[in-house]
Parts: sequence; structure tokens; C-alpha cells
Amino acid sequence: MNYYDENTIIYLNGAYIKAAEAKGDLFGQSMHYGYAVFEGIRSYKTANGETKIFKEKEHYDRLKASAQALNMPYTYTTESLIEATYTVLERNNLQDAYIRPLVFAPPNMSFNPNEQSYLMIAAWKMEPFLGETLLKVMTSSFQRPNPKGFIMEAKAAGHYVNSILASQEAKAKGFDEALLLDMNGFLAEGPGANIFVERDNVLYTPQRGNILPGITRATVLEICEELGIEVVEKQIKPEEAHGADSAFFCGTAAEVIGIASLDKVPFKKKWSESLGAVIQNAYKCKVLGKEFKASLAVA
Ligand code: PMP
Repeated sequence: MNYYDENTIIYLNGAYIKAAEAKGDLFGQSMHYGYAVFEGIRSYKTANGETKIFKEKEHYDRLKASAQALNMPYTYTTESLIEATYTVLERNNLQDAYIRPLVFAPPNMSFNPNEQSYLMIAAWKMEPFLGETLLKVMTSSFQRPNPKGFIMEAKAAGHYVNSILASQEAKAKGFDEALLLDMNGFLAEGPGANIFVERDNVLYTPQRGNILPGITRATVLEICEELGIEVVEKQIKPEEAHGADSAFFCGTAAEVIGIASLDKVPFKKKWSESLGAVIQNAYKCKVLGKEFKASLAVA
């Protein structure tokens, strides 16, 4: 995967510079302790040909909330960063792009707070993070962190060591992706995506508390409201997921992607007949600024 070449421009601390000439620092809490916050955002070439960053305000508001949750100085406005992001896209001739803002710490190897933060915004082309074919998923032996040990709603870099362990374990065992449980054994989320399970024409998704409540998850809830699909946020036991009608992961990078089986137990419905397929189609329409028909909802 090529994230940048010699022409790529990034935004770094207020300036637009070449990625190849940007300097990082090896003596900070971000590199050593995972003390940084970030976002994963997508822009799309919409139906009318314009570039639109999907839910840009929600993402930059979350970046600010994440930085504040970790006591990282944050002096940027959401509006100024949205503008900077559009500039980065334009300078790199990108329309369909994955955008990665990162707030990181200046040199300081102690645990003390910093007086400033650094901020970079980079963008590149990226296919759906989990591919476009139905996934074979395994329940991870790693649980999501205890929410009393971390601020789970912050998108903090360090949390992703847990995601990397789970994802690598699943792939080493021949699966496509992991599903992590929370510390009480209920479904939580994928390493980088939220999960929905369908049973008897109702969608279920883990409630907030042990998950990163995704912006895509919120969009799925909106779509369900618009299409009259019943959706329940609750604690879900693994046995309620095994052999359910269908399931899907959703996230900015992954978009909406169906799951074929969990721990080798297949979901019952054909993907094309599942509520997930309806949501997947509606989500595509939403990000591309296209109308979608409420009549698409289940018969
Ligand atoms: N959970 C985790 C752990 C994630 O990393 C992500 C991706 N940011 C999500 C859920 C989905 O969040 P979003 O829809 O905001 O991208």
C-alpha cells in the first residue's frame, strides 16, 4: 500500500508540506506510549461530481473530544480543519479518499502533560478496509479493554494495540477478521468496526459503554429510522449471534460489509436478502449524495 509519494502534500501544524519532507519526532509520548488521537474519514466523488467529506463535522468534533479526553492541548476549530482537509484533497487531486488526521505529542518522554500538540492531516486512496466479499469472522481470545482503564469513546492510538492483536490472531487462524467481546463476555465490536446482528427482522447492536460508538453506526441507526427497520441497542450474548439470520460490520474505512459466518457457524440468510444488504445499499447512496428508496426496506 502506497500512502504517499514524492508529490504528496500533507497538512502539518498549519502548513501544507510534502509528506516526503515532513519530520516526525522520536522522543515523544505518542511514539513510545501510544498517546495520540486520530480520525478515519472518507471523502467521496458524489453523484453531482463534487468532492464531499462524509460527516466531516462529526469526525472533527470527535477528534476534539478525543484530544480533550486525553488532556492533549487542542486549539483547532472543526471549521478550520474541514477547510484544511478539503485543501489537502485538492492539492493531491483526490476525490474518493481516506483521510487520516492525527494529533500527536511534542518531545517529552515523561508522563506529564504537554503545552502543545502537533496535528497532521494526510489523505490517500483506499479500498474498503475489509474488502468487498462476505467475511469469515472468529471470536477473539482478546477482549476489548475494561472501560475503567481507558476512555473507550476516545479514538486513541494506544487502544489499537488491542485491535492489532485481535486482527492478527484471526488472520493467523485463517479467518478474515476478529470479533471482540467486552470484559463481561458480551459482543463488543470488530478491531476497527462496529457490529450489527439480524434476528427475526430486527437488528441488534451492542450498546455504548464498551465500544467506540462509530459515526457509521450512528448513520446505520439513522438509516434504520428512515426505512422503518427496528433496531435495538443492547448487550448481546455470543449465543444470540451464532446462527442468527445475518450480521455485518460497519465503519468509515470498512463501510458496510456482510459477515458470512462467526466461528464457522454460518448466518442463515443469504446476504442479498438480509437487512444488512438494504443498509449497505442505503449507506452507499448516502455517502454519494444519492436518494434511496424507503421501499427497499424488507418485504
Ligand atoms: N470501532 C472501532 C474500534 C474502530 O476503530 C472504528 C473505526 N473508527 C469503529 C468502531 C467505527 O467507527 P466509525 O464508524 O466512526 O469509523
